[in-house]
Amino acid sequence: MNIHEKFDGSPQQRRELWRLVTEQLDAFASDTESFPVAPLLEREKIKKWVEQPELDEGLGAEKALDHVLQGMKTYTVHTTHPSYYGLFNPRASFPSVLADTITAAFNPQMAAWSHAPFANEVESFLIGQLAGKLGYSNSDGVFTSGGAEANQTAVLCALNEHFPHYGQSGLMGIGKRPLLYCSTEVHHSVIKAARSSGLGSESVRQIPVDKSQRMDCIPLENAIREDIHKGHQPFMVIATAGTTGTGSIDPLKDVGKIVDNYGLWFHVDAAYGGALALSSRHRHYLQGIERSDSLTFDIHKWPSVPMGCSAFITSHEQILSKTFGTSTDYMPRDASGLPVIDPFTHSIQWSRRFIGLKLYLSLLAFGWNGYQQMIDDMMDRGEYLGKTLRKAGWQICNDANLPVICFTPGSEGKSVEQICREVVWSGKAWISVYPIDGIPALRACITNYLTSNTDVDKLVGLLERIRKGETLAPTSGA
Ligand SMILES: *Cc1c(COP(=O)(O)O)cnc(C)c1O
Repeated sequence: MNIHEKFDGSPQQRRELWRLVTEQLDAFASDTESFPVAPLLEREKIKKWVEQPELDEGLGAEKALDHVLQGMKTYTVHTTHPSYYGLFNPRASFPSVLADTITAAFNPQMAAWSHAPFANEVESFLIGQLAGKLGYSNSDGVFTSGGAEANQTAVLCALNEHFPHYGQSGLMGIGKRPLLYCSTEVHHSVIKAARSSGLGSESVRQIPVDKSQRMDCIPLENAIREDIHKGHQPFMVIATAGTTGTGSIDPLKDVGKIVDNYGLWFHVDAAYGGALALSSRHRHYLQGIERSDSLTFDIHKWPSVPMGCSAFITSHEQILSKTFGTSTDYMPRDASGLPVIDPFTHSIQWSRRFIGLKLYLSLLAFGWNGYQQMIDDMMDRGEYLGKTLRKAGWQICNDANLPVICFTPGSEGKSVEQICREVVWSGKAWISVYPIDGIPALRACITNYLTSNTDVDKLVGLLERIRKGETLAPTSGA
């Protein structure tokens, strides 16, 4: 076999392999429920599966495919399972899965506009659309690998806006300590962004939260005022719309007012909650977001596309170019006469995947109304979960507006950790534990558009059996 045949296969072989893949993937999609939600975590066995194939000559494409699919089916937490009540990891809509396949096949290079004009125009269009839904009138933005990259982009833009020479002289040129503010419930990607942008974690002021786990505005303003008095340089406030633990939304309007008073950059990490903007019924929870300077919105969470797909959106049209602008001799200049921006001058990434197609193809297929229907449906399901748990005597310990429910047994007996372990071991559902004010609670989040009220009933039934003392034999691993 020559190299051409090895790398590409013949048209006939390709058709056969496509058929195999689609058959197997479709069987999995139709039958996800028959798999344990979480796998047994038998590291040695998994390692052996990964390492055992003969690699000098390879297995041939067909056997290789079987090997990989077997591994994926057996040793994965099935986030696409309707009884996965986890950490915002969705089941991906079918058009979005097709989109990722198309992207891989064409492999467009997004770095230069002229190399991928269709793909680049799609992404610019989508950024504008999302910005409009979130209430921005002027906007710019960029698709990112995830919320972590979007939050890092935000910190870098804020630094460049607030300290005009940051790009040249870095933090050394600032002289004073720049400070950013967020709540104690902030996602840790913000701390990482502070560490990797040179600020250091000591430049992050984590403000206490109120009883609903929302950033408390009084200590926020006090901290800013005190820090200015001490000679520091506050430059940014990050509010969260949909915290990871309890799905809380910081008081965006009030935070916005404080930020305005002190002339700081206002970023909203709406990685999870941003999707509320797609529903006219629930958009009001995000009031105040339209006054922010930038926001993070993970498409690969609630909008249900494969990872990684997030958006950084800003109301400052020049700031991305100012932050990431650079010129080189080797990048194509074919578009130099056109009023377009080359994404490599606009983003942390250089070579970049066509991330936006997952959203574009989904939108073309079922429209914004499809998204609205999905969000409304999952919000209703969250409410039903809360109601059903309460009726069965569980105590709900958060009052989130989002479909994230934190709860405790409300009676003596097994610990929250033990109950969680047994749920996961059973292979019948996946939930987690999150401490609220230091007290551990069970956490279940509606993350899958397939999850029905019947599934919710099954989860509560399972919890009931475990609470009443039944011990389920481990079929999977926590
Ligand atoms: C998930 C999440 C992030 C991180 O996003 P990734 O897409 O995982 O990189 C940041 N902030 C919040 C609030 C999140 O929920």
